[in-house]
Amino acid sequence: MEGRRLLSAAGEGGKSVVAPRTAGPYLRPMPATHSTRMLILGSGPAGLSAAIYGARAGLAPIVVQGIQPGGQLTITTDVENYPGFADVIQGPWLMEQMTKQAEHVGTQMVWDHISQVDLSERPFRLKGDSGAVYVGDVLVIATGAQARWLNLPSEEHLKGKGVSACATCDGFFYRGKKVAVIGGGNTAVEEALYMTNHSHDVTLIHRRDSLRAEKILQDRLFAHPNIKVIWNKVVERFVGGGEPEGLVALELRDTKTGELSALDVEGGFVAIGHSPATELFRGRLELDPEGYIVVETGTTRTSVPGIFACGDVMDKVYRQAVTAAGTGCMAALDAEKFLAEADFEVAAHAPAATSLQDA
Ligand code: FAD
Ligand code: NAP
Repeated sequence: MEGRRLLSAAGEGGKSVVAPRTAGPYLRPMPATHSTRMLILGSGPAGLSAAIYGARAGLAPIVVQGIQPGGQLTITTDVENYPGFADVIQGPWLMEQMTKQAEHVGTQMVWDHISQVDLSERPFRLKGDSGAVYVGDVLVIATGAQARWLNLPSEEHLKGKGVSACATCDGFFYRGKKVAVIGGGNTAVEEALYMTNHSHDVTLIHRRDSLRAEKILQDRLFAHPNIKVIWNKVVERFVGGGEPEGLVALELRDTKTGELSALDVEGGFVAIGHSPATELFRGRLELDPEGYIVVETGTTRTSVPGIFACGDVMDKVYRQAVTAAGTGCMAALDAEKFLAEADFEVAAHAPAATSLQDA
């Protein structure tokens, strides 16, 4: 993202915009430097939960929100599985509440996107698109993971109107309707199986003639009476119709013959994998083969002491708001413990207040 974009959008989306305004050809303001005990990247449920715990521990966290303040839940509507709300709540509203809660307990929100990192020593130094520099004694990475899409114009047009990338999140809204899941990995198979809780007519569409999902999942899939599999087909177009407009069919292309066909469905779940937002950390932190940040089992500690990862950026299995929030809490507690131990080390090695000579 360009710094220009941050400036032009000042005040529209984020709480505070730190991009320095150009004062004119003769006066160039110095880029701002923001220092904190706890620097948090990402303002989804993971980052904000870390912020709430960090702030309450007196660490005065700074959250760099990124280009999607509030994270993935801001692009959905109804959320029914986040505990604590008997009635259906809206994703953007939930994230607004989490943001306010984090601010209320002492978090500083900054609207910027980190594009450079120096993790070679503590404190860690990061630079945003705005030119601002962020210095943190500890770093919590909560940059999330984005679902991969097919990148068809019709997909973009019908997102939220029948096309989704999360059956666990949106499946409930397709109760009793014909649905299709696209993909051949574990996620696609799990989503197809999950959708049988809501639909008696689920079709899995895969571009090849064998799945890459684990055998046990395949066995369950093939044994299920309400799931059929269509092989060697890709979605050419999501077809909309009705009033208000929603998905009514998929136009499919056979990958072997090129033949086109149609499948009537009201729900289409794209399950072709996720991409964790970890490009910045490649070569600097240990990542797994799919790019997720590796953490020590049962903790949020990464391969670099003082850096913690939480939420979808380190979790390729659960990928839910509540699990992201849970690991956000863990990251703040891990970070707090790390700082307390580091402070203790410093105090233990500091020269004694009264020297022998003074005695
Ligand atoms: P995210 O929410 O992805 O947030 C990542 C944050 O990192 C963003 O704020 C982004 O701006 C920031 N960021 C990224 N890169 C940078 C950078 N370089 N510098 C600074 N900041 C950066 N889960 C449920 O539990 N229930 C649901 O009903 C549900 N519905 C969903 C519907 C949809 C359409 C989608 C896409 C997901 C849904 N999910 C749902 C999943 C849920 O949204 C995610 O599991 C959750 O948001 C992950 O939280 P996170 O904090 O790890 O990351
Ligand atoms: P994945 O394993 O990468 O599978 C993606 C699937 O989507 C593949 O079948 C792929 O087809 C297909 N695909 C990719 N791009 C496509 C396109 N443009 N058009 C049509 N199809 C496309 O992703 P995943 O299923 O999300 O799993 C990611 C990781 O998380 C894996 O390691 C998985 O094991 C893990 N996971 C584990 C669990 C579990 O343990 N229960 C659950 C979910 C995920 P090809 O096969 O032809 O490449």
